[in-house]
Amino acid sequence: MSRATTVRLDLGALVHNLRRVRAAAPGRRVAAAVKAEGYGHGLVRVARTLDADAFAVAGIEEALTLREAGVARPIVLLEGVFEAAELPLCARHGLEIAVHHPEQGRMLEMARLEQPVRVWLKVDTGMHRLGLEPETVPTLFQRLRDCPSARTDLGLMSHLARADERDCDYTHRQLRKFETATAGLPGERSLANSAGILGWPQTHFDWVRPGIMLYGASPFVNSLAPDEDLRPVMTLRTQLISIKRLRRGEPVGYGGTWVCPEDMAVGVAAVGYGDGYPRHAPSGTPVLLNGREAALIGRVSMDMITLDLRRHPEARIGDPVVLWGEGLPVERIAQAAGTIPYTLLCGVTARVKRDVVPADGE
Ligand SMILES: *Cc1c(COP(=O)(O)O)cnc(C)c1O
Repeated sequence: MSRATTVRLDLGALVHNLRRVRAAAPGRRVAAAVKAEGYGHGLVRVARTLDADAFAVAGIEEALTLREAGVARPIVLLEGVFEAAELPLCARHGLEIAVHHPEQGRMLEMARLEQPVRVWLKVDTGMHRLGLEPETVPTLFQRLRDCPSARTDLGLMSHLARADERDCDYTHRQLRKFETATAGLPGERSLANSAGILGWPQTHFDWVRPGIMLYGASPFVNSLAPDEDLRPVMTLRTQLISIKRLRRGEPVGYGGTWVCPEDMAVGVAAVGYGDGYPRHAPSGTPVLLNGREAALIGRVSMDMITLDLRRHPEARIGDPVVLWGEGLPVERIAQAAGTIPYTLLCGVTARVKRDVVPADGE
């Protein structure tokens, strides 16, 4: 039998989570964030499954992959183009681009394109990563309105830095800045990420841009997917491949960081950081063994982890182990390992077999 380490991708959950977006932001259009290989779920697979109004990606390579796969919906490059040479391709393939810097505006003004591209002016309202200074927006807006390389239906967007904190005033401040910077300008607006969609209805505007919630993880620091009626799309699974009895005082794994407090059974599951399981998950991080929680003990190795079987006397070699997903929210593993669900979902490595469950049964 071959190594059982598998990610199951439940496309029905993806469809459910998009319905959840539409219920939370009724009447708004949805640009589904599918960057980074659809948060590790497969770029084309996700785009083909989701009946979104548009797709949002980080760069032109991802956009062209989608076009080659026959995805005809609008595609937005969230960071725009990195060099002017991309602009003709954007025009040819009907890709929409963010303009977050005056230099990108100049590239457009210098370009001669077979048809104009749709532009989203990205305003820095407080994220302070990408985006135009708010005061400069009206002038650049006018210039691009007059620019033959830009379509006249300019959009206006910004990005929220702290919407995942439900009681934080910063989102209100960003919202006010966005409204001030874009006051009186025509055009569609977009501000909300997943946290904005679920927590801040004032940020919905014309287009919402869900990412993490589509994949079935809560965007909030203090809630889990089931609290938000989200279903995990990805379940990382493996099997128990060894059980041994160790004496009190025996150390387990590299560095001997965990020492048996009594005579006990220790299980070994075939998953490790070589599969994308976080190296920093500490002893006590939960897994599901036969559907019941068991605790990780000792260090995570490349191909294996060790488990405390004291409360699992029935465990046998070959038993199923779930690392995250169905029955065990990835948020809990992220929290234990001091990271976020995004990195865990994006980080499952190529060697892990993909087992895709189609959405048709919905
Ligand atoms: C990735 C991204 C999103 C989606 O964010 P989530 O937190 O995953 O919902 C939205 N907007 C922009 C600009 C992004 O880069």
